[in-house]
Amino acid sequence: MSDPIIIIGASHAGVSCAEKLRANGFSGQIQLIDRLSGVPFERPPLSKGFLQADGSDDEKFLLRRSDWFTSHEITLIDGREVTAIDRESKQLQLDDGQCCRYDKLVLATGAFPRQLDDANNLQNVFVLRHARNAYELRSAMKGRKSAIVIGGGYIGLEVAASLTKAGIHVDVIEMTERLLARVASPNISAFFANLHEINDVGIYTGVINQEILQKDGLFSGIRINNDRTIHAELLLLGIGVLPELGNAKDAGLTTGDGIIVDGMMQSSDADIYAIGDVALVDGAMSRIESVDNAQNTAARAAAAICGSSQPPKAAPWFWSEQFDVRLQSAGIVPQEAAAVQYVVRRGKREGGLSVWSYDVFGKLAAIEAVGDPAAYMLGKKCLDLGLSPPPSDIGNADFDLKGFVASGAA
Ligand SMILES: Cc1cc2nc3c(=O)[nH]c(=O)nc-3n(C[C@H](O)[C@H](O)[C@H](O)COP(=O)(O)OP(=O)(O)OC[C@H]3O[C@@H](n4cnc5c(N)ncnc54)[C@H](O)[C@@H]3O)c2cc1C
Repeated sequence: MSDPIIIIGASHAGVSCAEKLRANGFSGQIQLIDRLSGVPFERPPLSKGFLQADGSDDEKFLLRRSDWFTSHEITLIDGREVTAIDRESKQLQLDDGQCCRYDKLVLATGAFPRQLDDANNLQNVFVLRHARNAYELRSAMKGRKSAIVIGGGYIGLEVAASLTKAGIHVDVIEMTERLLARVASPNISAFFANLHEINDVGIYTGVINQEILQKDGLFSGIRINNDRTIHAELLLLGIGVLPELGNAKDAGLTTGDGIIVDGMMQSSDADIYAIGDVALVDGAMSRIESVDNAQNTAARAAAAICGSSQPPKAAPWFWSEQFDVRLQSAGIVPQEAAAVQYVVRRGKREGGLSVWSYDVFGKLAAIEAVGDPAAYMLGKKCLDLGLSPPPSDIGNADFDLKGFVASGAA
């Protein structure tokens, strides 16, 4: 029997890859190794439904139930950390001293949250990446009245909405001049700033200076820009993540802000692939952190390993939920620049809208829709097909977008 395919990381990318290997007809051994104990949880609900749930039915947040691993003949080795990769002998070292040989290795090691030195050893300071973090935060929320979130990105804002729904007053502190500055158009930033403000969330942007306050080792508040002090009982750090490169770097794989891979997710070692949040496709501007990307890159690696045809290219997509609003986006929103255009299109439903972003060459680069799933679907189709409806038409609510897409697709 040949050595197994080993996947390090049993989260969205790793589990998807194991599933796709089976779907591509691979019948050999598959081992999934994760340092976390237990069956993996889905990540997106951890900042949304999980924080709002009472804990009586947390099983519904599992990524897969344990019988799924059995029925797919996939061995889950949980609670075990891979400490080294020996590429020459094609072996892994685990933290209990065990060695495992592999035929092909898939790195789905994801990313870990950035921390703040000043808040490192304080009580009531939280990050949110996996289920244990979410359990800790959920139990700390009980009976609290106030919290601060540092970081106005998607995770910070989703947590702010969940805490607010639980009756906790939240202040969000963001270093840049607008919320979601790295990932969304200015119009969508303004939409969510307004949504949070009408729900009584305090929003502070452009905070260049912050001092963490504490009393007897317990987080007690923040002083911002040397002129305002906000007291609170809990602190959530939502200041981004760093790729989990440790083993890959030590093993001499080519890395940057991620493990560098080609279009089939193959690393600088032909027997090692990297997928999901940790992978950086050679030539891409940055890593993509989303469930869609985890699944898509998993499918690419599995197809390459099995010698199957690659899945068709499609625009990356993402969603977020805050209060009762669902955002759907596709493509990569270009950063603000003189020639970049953001065009707002009113939706048919009350309050629905979409923002269409055009890059410096005037080509459609992304669509973001709130309360307008129809516009999202049509925008995603445009991106997948390489269609670029003229910005002046998009701004006109009477423009027949459906007809435009149908004629472009024909
Ligand atoms: C709170 C939250 C909300 C989110 N919401 C959304 C959303 O609404 N929409 C969306 O599209 N995306 C969302 N995301 C992002 C999405 O969940 C991630 O992009 C996705 O989880 C990436 O999957 P991954 O498998 O690449 O990495 P991860 O999920 O980070 O998993 C990596 C796994 O590898 C394991 N590991 C790492 N190193 C080792 C080692 N040496 N040995 C053993 N195990 C190891 C880790 O324990 C971990 O379980 C959210 C993420 C979070 C945290």
